[in-house]
Amino acid sequence: MIPAELIEKKRDDIELTPKEIDWFISNVMNEKIDDSQLSALLMSIYFNGMSEIETASLVSSMIKSGKQFNFEHLERYVADKHSTGGIGDKISFVLAPLLSTFDIVVPMIAGRGLSFTGGTIDKLESIKNFQTQKDFDSFTKQINKVGCGIISQSSEICPADKKLYSIRDLTGTIPSFPLICSSIMSKKIAEGLDGLVMDIKVGNGAFMRTLQEAKSLGMELKKIGNSFNINVNITYSNMSQPLGSYAGLRCEIIEAIDCLNGNGPDDVIQLSLDLCASILVQSGLSRNKSKAKNSLLKNIKNGKALEKFEEMIIAQGGELNEIYSKNNFAKNHIIIKSKESGYVQKINTEKIGWALVEMGCGRKVIGDTLDYSAGIKSNYKVGHKINKGDPVFELFGYDDIKLKNAREMLVGTFIISEKKVKKEKLIIE
Ligand code: URA
Repeated sequence: MIPAELIEKKRDDIELTPKEIDWFISNVMNEKIDDSQLSALLMSIYFNGMSEIETASLVSSMIKSGKQFNFEHLERYVADKHSTGGIGDKISFVLAPLLSTFDIVVPMIAGRGLSFTGGTIDKLESIKNFQTQKDFDSFTKQINKVGCGIISQSSEICPADKKLYSIRDLTGTIPSFPLICSSIMSKKIAEGLDGLVMDIKVGNGAFMRTLQEAKSLGMELKKIGNSFNINVNITYSNMSQPLGSYAGLRCEIIEAIDCLNGNGPDDVIQLSLDLCASILVQSGLSRNKSKAKNSLLKNIKNGKALEKFEEMIIAQGGELNEIYSKNNFAKNHIIIKSKESGYVQKINTEKIGWALVEMGCGRKVIGDTLDYSAGIKSNYKVGHKINKGDPVFELFGYDDIKLKNAREMLVGTFIISEKKVKKEKLIIE
């Protein structure tokens, strides 16, 4: 086969065969196909989509590129959550340890920042010495012992997703159904899951802008999951404003710890409880979501969830002292004040995401170094009353110039109305 021939086929909207897809992916993995040809194929997929058969083949080829975990010997429910990406989304840091306190096994494989959305792995790496690249055997040992953990794709674990993910991030090919489905499901199937809850984000800070689009994606993800015997539940949640108060890197870990202490922002706690409750009901451990939420809250209040979080961080080499000591205050700060009084009508959340990339919470090009101290605190949500001069955003980070650039990028992010505005619903469906 010839790479350019397959690229031309997809460019001209002709269906690729499973053999051709498998050949292309395996030759990307053995470096016979370079990044320019991979980028061209991804862009062709972005424009022309993929049939159900093509998407299923891509998922299978991506799974085959690495090893698959199997935790059947633990005789416990193996489950995970995955989000389609947003701003300020720190749910994984609350959910993994919290579910683990119910003896649910959570072997999470997560990604780095993608486009304007933040990355779970980048946030975890803000914890000194935290290892996100554990090898297959040592992650298996950790899960057997601790019950939960969060690692990145690697040369052993979902290597095809690691490769495609980083190229998609740089080539404007993220919001494509078959590419999102194969990226997410190849990771989740490799985890050896019984159950999955998908948090599909909807809104102006998400890849899916409408509920209708989100539902089509949800149906595809469910179909793929079910065909691999994974129970899939879906929550459609609002991403038309940042989740929680903080978005960035280390600041999100601190906010997640606040939630595990029972003190975090209401939206982060509510969404964490909802997603965890879906898994508890799915696994048969709870009869309904409201009973599940009561049990979950109990394990936050009695300190068990925070204890499990710390156990997970220590098992992966992380040192929490720096975070607990609060010595991580950033070098520079900028406060952006409101120029008007009224009610917050709309927040352009994607703009906040790009400002965070500018500040060093994401990558513009391969190899960009991140600023773990950087982040944005948003003080207002849609529907809140705001007065002229109130601090809308607090920007912080190491590099003053980047902060100033971000300030320019945030101009016009808030639309203020004179009339009262209804609050946004957090869980859409
Ligand atoms: N999360 C992923 O893992 N992959 C995507 O493509 C989007 C969100």
